[in-house]
Amino acid sequence: MAVARKPRYVDVSNPSLSVECPRCGLLTARFIDHCRNCGYKLWPSSVVASAAFKAWRDADPRRVEASRFDLETPPEPIVAEVDYAARAHELGIHLFPNSNFPFIICVGALFLALAAIPFSSTARIVLAVIGGLIFLYGVVGWVLVEDVRMYPSETPPAHGEGQH
Ligand SMILES: [Zn+2]
Repeated sequence: MAVARKPRYVDVSNPSLSVECPRCGLLTARFIDHCRNCGYKLWPSSVVASAAFKAWRDADPRRVEASRFDLETPPEPIVAEVDYAARAHELGIHLFPNSNFPFIICVGALFLALAAIPFSSTARIVLAVIGGLIFLYGVVGWVLVEDVRMYPSETPPAHGEGQH
């Protein structure tokens, strides 16, 4: 393991990852030993530059994600999570609950569709009855059972809701 010599001085209070090159004046990575634009030697060696970067990075826990090859520190991650169910409730929008019943409805629809094929009439009636029962079970479970369970307050609050 190479022993990195401690840099003589690195300004860890400066949060910038970039620096203006003393020779060409263009912005370049602060902890790379050469200027990216003109090749001017900013640090005695890449080992020293790396050690300086580590000292700079360890000075502030917010710099953990920083890379010495970047010109800017990475932005704060944006928390873009939205609880759509809560938001919809707030806005008074009715969302259908997450449910497996649509799959059951589709299975019922499959049997109903099979009943439309011109087999012998008894087979078609049997298929239609099976499909209809599965279809109705799915619809009732989704719309009448799960939906009411998810929005229990929508039916009783006839007296409390109109006051504000
Ligand atoms: Zn330069």
